[in-house]
Amino acid sequence: MDDEANTGLGTLQRPIKVNSPEFEYVYVANQRCPCGGDYTIVRQALMLTTPPSDRLECRCQQCDRERVFVFDIGSFFGQSEKYGRFAKTDRHFHEALLRLRIGQLTQAEERFLRVIDPDEGEPNFAWALFYLGSLYLELERPAEAYEYLSRAVDIQPLDAPLHQMLAFACRLLGREKEARQQLAIMLELERRFGVSDAEGEV
Ligand SMILES: [Zn+2]
Repeated sequence: MDDEANTGLGTLQRPIKVNSPEFEYVYVANQRCPCGGDYTIVRQALMLTTPPSDRLECRCQQCDRERVFVFDIGSFFGQSEKYGRFAKTDRHFHEALLRLRIGQLTQAEERFLRVIDPDEGEPNFAWALFYLGSLYLELERPAEAYEYLSRAVDIQPLDAPLHQMLAFACRLLGREKEARQQLAIMLELERRFGVSDAEGEV
């Protein structure tokens, strides 16, 4: 695989698993350049590797830095009936947010789990992982909160609210040192980019 793939932060990663073409765009829309800018997709190339992958070359709208995202599309490539299934995932996400806001936590949990389902949903949907983790904090289930919030932070390491929520989970688990590290990252990101809303783009 191309060495520059997914190396925006200097670490080589495996292709990102997606279950629908639409989610590739959602994923990129939720990433930010280290300068804080958003990415524009400048080129897309299908690669007939095993599994097949989709390569999106992007450029930062602010500083012109380039970044390449490579997605593993093996779960749906060539199966046209699966191409539109992000619509369902998106419906579950919005329904889950609504349930969360009105305090129906069990119903919200059930829907968030469908959103991030490894086969039917999008397991790399960071904002769904974030809200699910937050919900587990509210339910006083910090081990599960930690699991999902860690995944969210791995996907979107430049979003301050994710680090803040992970810090809360660490604290409840008695991981004080890690909590302080996460809060320090949060403050640094807020200093660099300002305070952001925890909403995400869909
Ligand atoms: Zn930039």
